[in-house]
Amino acid sequence: MSVNDSTRILVAGTGPVGLLSALAFAQAGFGVVIAGPPARADDGRTTALMVPALKVLDRIGVLGELSKDAAPLKTMRIIDGTSRLIRSPIVTFRAGEIGEDHFGYNFRNSVLNAVLERAVTGHSGIEWRRALVEHWQLGPDLATATLSDGTLVQSALAVAADGRGSPARQAAGISSSSRALPQAALVLNFAHSRDHAFTSTEFHTETGPFTVVPLPGRRSSLVWVVRPETARQLADLDDAALSVRIERQMQSMLGRVTVDGGRQIYPLSTSLPQRFGQNRIALVGEAAHVFPPIGAQGLNLGIRDVDQLVEIAAKHAADPGSAAALAAYDSSRRPDILARTGAVNLLNMSLLSDMLPAQMARGLGLNVLGGFSPIRAFFMREGLRPGSGFAAIAASLRAPGRIRDTRHD
Ligand SMILES: Cc1cc2nc3c(=O)[nH]c(=O)nc-3n(C[C@H](O)[C@H](O)[C@H](O)COP(=O)(O)OP(=O)(O)OC[C@H]3O[C@@H](n4cnc5c(N)ncnc54)[C@H](O)[C@@H]3O)c2cc1C
Repeated sequence: MSVNDSTRILVAGTGPVGLLSALAFAQAGFGVVIAGPPARADDGRTTALMVPALKVLDRIGVLGELSKDAAPLKTMRIIDGTSRLIRSPIVTFRAGEIGEDHFGYNFRNSVLNAVLERAVTGHSGIEWRRALVEHWQLGPDLATATLSDGTLVQSALAVAADGRGSPARQAAGISSSSRALPQAALVLNFAHSRDHAFTSTEFHTETGPFTVVPLPGRRSSLVWVVRPETARQLADLDDAALSVRIERQMQSMLGRVTVDGGRQIYPLSTSLPQRFGQNRIALVGEAAHVFPPIGAQGLNLGIRDVDQLVEIAAKHAADPGSAAALAAYDSSRRPDILARTGAVNLLNMSLLSDMLPAQMARGLGLNVLGGFSPIRAFFMREGLRPGSGFAAIAASLRAPGRIRDTRHD
């Protein structure tokens, strides 16, 4: 058993947010121990990261390597693919409209994880214990973690990057309202005969979004949100039959589709803790927020958690896990996390709901984004976060009567 008293920061969890946390804290000069298994090599998803997140990756020194196998997102489109009475216009955001080349990049998670893993392993200021945290003891001055390899790690601040179930969050006594959704995401990549022109398209359907995001070449990734039983049926189809289903679902937008082997299904849920830090533990990534994959929000938000946590820890360098530091972290992250979580959940519920007011409100929200150019430009320029638009949709869902000035795309 070894105890390293000089360790300042312990990161629990080795998903993308944990690995990024370790790198960002080490870069800011903190001593870091990270605990968790080797990074996932079998994650078949891709992740669209927007410019603010790319800036963080660049600062950490991994963007160059990551961009070699990524596709820029130059145009982002939302298409109402429901067959409901009230349907929205197509909403198209073009980076060129605001003088930018792209909104972000789409990365393969397997590459993202591998690049981050190499960077963490190669960093002299980070010690990686390939073990799980089995037990937490949270005192007034230190967090003590007992790992599955029998070692102890003491730290002034423990970063809970241990995912949606977050044992660290539970140990900190932070309750969370969590709910399983009647939806699952079928995830796969495919080749197609037409160019994607670096356009991502989110079709909104009655079971959730069907989202196609460009990869390098004539290839794209798909996240298809359906009922769990439908996801299983689709995943059981042979390659030819599934290719035809996908091509039909997107009205041959990308020509002939040929799916890659390997499909994955992700059950969907939502989770929101009452606080984002307490008792020497700060929550980041899915320990701090879980919602359905609409509008490429989750990891972008997780990267902002890390960025702000490191900034606040640096301001409280004498004791980065103090109650004052954690209170500052909680209040700085609260508005962003609540806005994104609320907006994405509302939009998701409006897709699933058959109720007319929900449909009308969603239509009005998309109308505003689709038509009124100062608002569109505002959303695109504002941090280049297409997710900001979802906050507008949420606002319209709450007060649909207020929106007047709309124009179709
Ligand atoms: C289908 C789908 C598509 C998505 N697409 C996008 C997108 O395009 N853009 C975007 O921004 N977001 C997207 N997201 C969201 C994004 O994938 C998540 O936000 C992100 O993966 C969360 O990473 P994380 O590191 O917080 O959690 P995880 O990846 O779940 O990592 C948690 C880690 O904690 C470890 N762990 C658990 N318990 C312990 C313990 N006791 N001790 C130590 N370690 C422990 C686990 O082993 C794991 O390594 C998508 C999500 C889904 C489901």
